[in-house]
Amino acid sequence: MNAVTQTTDSSRKAPVNVPAAVLFSVSTLLLLTVFPLYAWHYDFSSAAWILFFVFLYASGISITGGYHRLWSHRAYEARLPLKIFYMLFGAQALQNSILIWSSMHRVHHKNVDHPQADPYSIKRGFWYAHMGWMLRDQPCHALDFSNVKDLQRDPVVMFQHRHYLGLALGTNIGLPLLCGIAVGDPWGVLLVAGLLRLVVNHHFTFLINSAAHKWGRRPYTEENSARDNDLIALLTYGEGYHNYHHLFSWDYRNGIRWWHIDLTKWWIASWAFLGQASDLRRVPEFRIRRAMVERQFARAQARLAQAAPTKRLDTVKRLLEQEMEAFKVTIGEWTTLQTEKIEAARQQMVESVADHWEHSEARRRLQHLERTLQEQYARVRLLHLQAA
Ligand SMILES: [Zn+2]
Ligand SMILES: [Zn+2]
Repeated sequence: MNAVTQTTDSSRKAPVNVPAAVLFSVSTLLLLTVFPLYAWHYDFSSAAWILFFVFLYASGISITGGYHRLWSHRAYEARLPLKIFYMLFGAQALQNSILIWSSMHRVHHKNVDHPQADPYSIKRGFWYAHMGWMLRDQPCHALDFSNVKDLQRDPVVMFQHRHYLGLALGTNIGLPLLCGIAVGDPWGVLLVAGLLRLVVNHHFTFLINSAAHKWGRRPYTEENSARDNDLIALLTYGEGYHNYHHLFSWDYRNGIRWWHIDLTKWWIASWAFLGQASDLRRVPEFRIRRAMVERQFARAQARLAQAAPTKRLDTVKRLLEQEMEAFKVTIGEWTTLQTEKIEAARQQMVESVADHWEHSEARRRLQHLERTLQEQYARVRLLHLQAA
């Protein structure tokens, strides 16, 4: 019996996750029946549509900025009011408690693409990664909070975990109903900002586990299935730069360039500007460029290995070897620079040494090395294109 057959058999045997199956069936059925019937007979108010977008973005960003980047990856620190916002609107997103979500997400990063050990492995198909994984209690979904001990010490996380059902019902039914009564359109608001918003947000965020592991570019690593995709980033509040994220998961950004559509990055940076978020962690630019050049080398070498040998390809191969040598020199210089930085910090033993170092000659050398890698990336990319 091969691995695929075993996987299919084990998913058949796994018992149905009744609450999840009921939630997804009922919300989808209501959206396909009650929603169009109501829309046929009545007009939705403008307030209902405004609340739809407010709740859609509040619950979406609470998953990406809160559940994901704050709690699962500790990519930054947030003050209490922001945490409470994430906790409440994260419950409205109906994707389980912060504790359970983060625990599974950390397992996903650790075992990414493993057919059994990754809770939403794309290797079991698009549907399984998108939604199917939640419909059955797979062995890898057994709750084990040993990987979220840090979160168990967070009172906001534990409060939500203990009162999850009440918070989920209150934010999904109570809050839209109250807002609806306030604007004189209770049923309209409940259907648009409650039901439609819930289903849309579910599928938008589920795309991160399915589409962002299937379609798009892999500029940083090919060691896993995660992809960078601008369209998915647009729908997932910036989480579509998933190839970067799986390599550098502790960066508060997923889209690292200013033109990358990463709403969550801008959201976090705005709260940091207002003093509600701090310690935003960023991967050093040199390490990012290094990963990109290494990836480009691998692509060029793979193409060269497939091509029939010609005189022109021999030249490309030789140039590529020269680039590889130059790359080793750059990495060597960077390693020396890192050692010097550590040494300087140890000798001076002053708190401001890191800041001092940042503004010193060493910083200029680092920027030069970053530029060197940027230029080399362009050259190796050209060689890759010529290697066809
Ligand atoms: Zn992933
Ligand atoms: Zn992640």
